Amino acid sequence: MRNGRDTFVVAEQHQRGHSATADEACPKPRFIADAMLGKLARWLRMLGVDTVYEPSLNDTELLERSIEEDRVLLTRDFRLTQRKLARNCSLIESDCWKEQLRQVVCEFHLTTDPAENGKRFSRCVGCNGRLEPVDREAVRFRVPVHIHEEHERFLRCLHCKHIYWQGSHHAAVERVLDELMDVRRP
Ligand SMILES: [Zn+2]
Repeated sequence: MRNGRDTFVVAEQHQRGHSATADEACPKPRFIADAMLGKLARWLRMLGVDTVYEPSLNDTELLERSIEEDRVLLTRDFRLTQRKLARNCSLIESDCWKEQLRQVVCEFHLTTDPAENGKRFSRCVGCNGRLEPVDREAVRFRVPVHIHEEHERFLRCLHCKHIYWQGSHHAAVERVLDELMDVRRP
C-alpha cells in the first residue's frame, strides 16, 4: 500500500486507468471528488461510500461524470460550483482531510448502517471497486508468505483484483472513523 496509514495492505501496485464505475446496487449518496481531495476520497471509500477519484479529469469532465452517474461533486474550487453544469456540488471548506470528512459526514448524514451508505472496508481504497471475501488458499502465492501464515481472512477487489488483509493499522483507522462518526450521534 502506498500509504502506511491505510487499514488494509495491498499485495501489488494498483493498475492505472479508470476507477470502478457507477455501482447501481450501492445506496446513495455517491460522490466524485476533485483532484484536490484524494485523501478525502480514500477515507470515504474506507467508510464504504462509493467515491470516484480520477485526478486526470478536467473540470468539464468532472461535471459531466457527476451528472451522468448521479454523483455529488465534492470540490475545493468555488468557481467550479458556479459553472452551469454544476447541478449537484458540495464546496469543501477545509484543507484538512479530517475536517473535510467531518463536513461530508454531517452534510450527507452518513451513517455506519450498511443499508444506508455501505459498509466499512467494503471498497478498494485504490480504485473504488467492491471488495469480496476470497478463499485463503486462492491467495497463497499472491501475498508474502508471512502474511499468508498470519492471516485467515482476505478480501479481493472485484475491479482491480488486488488482495487486502487486515493490517496492523486497522484499529487506528477504526478509531478515527468512530471519532468522526460520533458527530452523528445525538
Ligand atoms: Zn481495486
